Amino acid sequence: PSLRGHNEMMGDWPSLAGTSSGSGMPLLVQRTISRQIEIVREIGKGRYGTVSLGKWKDEKVALKIFNSTDEDSWFRETEIYQTVLLRHDNVLGFIAADISGAGSWTQLYLITEYHKHGSLYDYLHTKPIVLAEALKLAYSACCGLAHLHTEIAGTQGKPAIAHRDVKSKNILVKNDGECCVADMGLAVCFSRLHEKIDIGSYDRSNRQGTKRYMSPEVLDQTFHPESFEAYKASDVYSFALVMWEVINRIIVNGVGGEYMVPYHDAVGEDPDFDEMRKVVVLEGMRPEIHVGWHAHKIISTYSATMQECWSARPDSRLSMLRLRKTLNFLVNGGRGAAGSASSESDRKPSTSSNS
Ligand code: ADP
Ligand code: MG
Ligand code: MG
Repeated sequence: PSLRGHNEMMGDWPSLAGTSSGSGMPLLVQRTISRQIEIVREIGKGRYGTVSLGKWKDEKVALKIFNSTDEDSWFRETEIYQTVLLRHDNVLGFIAADISGAGSWTQLYLITEYHKHGSLYDYLHTKPIVLAEALKLAYSACCGLAHLHTEIAGTQGKPAIAHRDVKSKNILVKNDGECCVADMGLAVCFSRLHEKIDIGSYDRSNRQGTKRYMSPEVLDQTFHPESFEAYKASDVYSFALVMWEVINRIIVNGVGGEYMVPYHDAVGEDPDFDEMRKVVVLEGMRPEIHVGWHAHKIISTYSATMQECWSARPDSRLSMLRLRKTLNFLVNGGRGAAGSASSESDRKPSTSSNS
């Protein structure tokens, strides 16, 4: 199947099918790129393949090569990156998608902008950070997710997109200290125009993101897949865990500053579904809140907001947009109009209305 063919299959969703792509690059140009890329070294490994640093002309690019058995994951991720109006400073920049060979020799590529710091997970491993850096990382990642979640109305609009695999390994750190959201392989879309949730063209029933970051409602199977709000609220829970990973990396009164993965003290290295359910749902456990955080105005607000976002009840979590407002307020030193107390109208609605 050619890339062009895949684009035409996108049918229902607004896209730049056939003419250009999310990168603004003609498809024909895209299709020749992977043959012109020189692989420098491997930089990452995920569930669906390997990511390498590549050289294309004089530019550094990231080349994600999918296992040939994961064509559906490649297809989905390519489809999402080509969504109209997806491009944003805090969403990984798509360059091209390509396919080469045939049969068991098929190679599937996704080419994106390269970020030398790698994932937020890797970045947080390297050194402790100061509060200003932490707020910048959390706020910018939230901006990317809020952009995904927001539907832009109109025929050339953008559907709302829920990520479904939010975690520090799927968020990259750019040179300027801001984050961008990556790994769209599990994303789901919703547009009011179509009034239906698009979960992609393959059966993804057994692919629901990373167990450690799974929301309580996914773990106890009370998740409502027919409501798009449910997908967004699950992203907010997972992102609250990422917020904790970030804030836990600052040193407050000589305490903290070690990198720790969420629930490091409660589950093993590769927890299974039941292990996570026991800890998150039955015991209602959440990552540790340090006492030192309470005394600091900005950190205590950050912490209270984060805890609201990992609530066991999806409808008492903030929306990604409301969270963005609060984090922006904190980035500005607690000054500005956003205020710290969340009002009822800013809370995520529990109905299927899409805001
Ligand atoms: P998977 O879908 O297999 O999980 P990802 O897209 O999450 O693959 O990429 C796997 C890892 O590769 C990431 O966690 C990150 O460490 C690294 N990586 C991915 N894309 C880039 C990029 N554009 N620049 C730098 N590192 C990247
Ligand atoms: Mg990944
Ligand atoms: Mg993936």
